[in-house]
Amino acid sequence: MLCYHCMREKGDAEICPHCHAQGSVELQPHQIAPGTVIGNRYTLGNVIGEGGFGITYEGLDQVLNARVAIKEYYMTGFVNRNVAASLDVIPSVGEKAETFRKNREKFYSEAMVLAKFGEEDGIVRIQDYFQENETAYIVMEYLDGGTLKDRLNSQGATMA
Ligand SMILES: [Zn+2]
Repeated sequence: MLCYHCMREKGDAEICPHCHAQGSVELQPHQIAPGTVIGNRYTLGNVIGEGGFGITYEGLDQVLNARVAIKEYYMTGFVNRNVAASLDVIPSVGEKAETFRKNREKFYSEAMVLAKFGEEDGIVRIQDYFQENETAYIVMEYLDGGTLKDRLNSQGATMA
């Protein structure tokens, strides 16, 4: 069994021998369940955090067998989803749907630019980006602990 926190194999153990994570994280109805594969390549783990513009998940790149962080574009208040019915993000009607689509485009094109410029200081390296479930995803190198969160927060401002 995969540990959905550190994305390493933990066997039948209740408590992960690698990171000591225990049990499962409670999900909200719009958050995708751990174990789901997206982009034909990435296994999602636990939700790391959620802001107004997206949900960040732990992830495992099955091709490189490497831990990653995956940000899903999800505009709170502008879209809805119930993963029990479908993984597709459903935009609200009218202007809100228009705003969501515009921002999704922007998010995606910024990901392309950031992926090109890789190694700059203080910028999380983007390894991949794709569209699925009526929204967009970016795959980032995994950085440990607080730094990841801090960097995601500061980067989140420009990704809005
Ligand atoms: Zn673990």
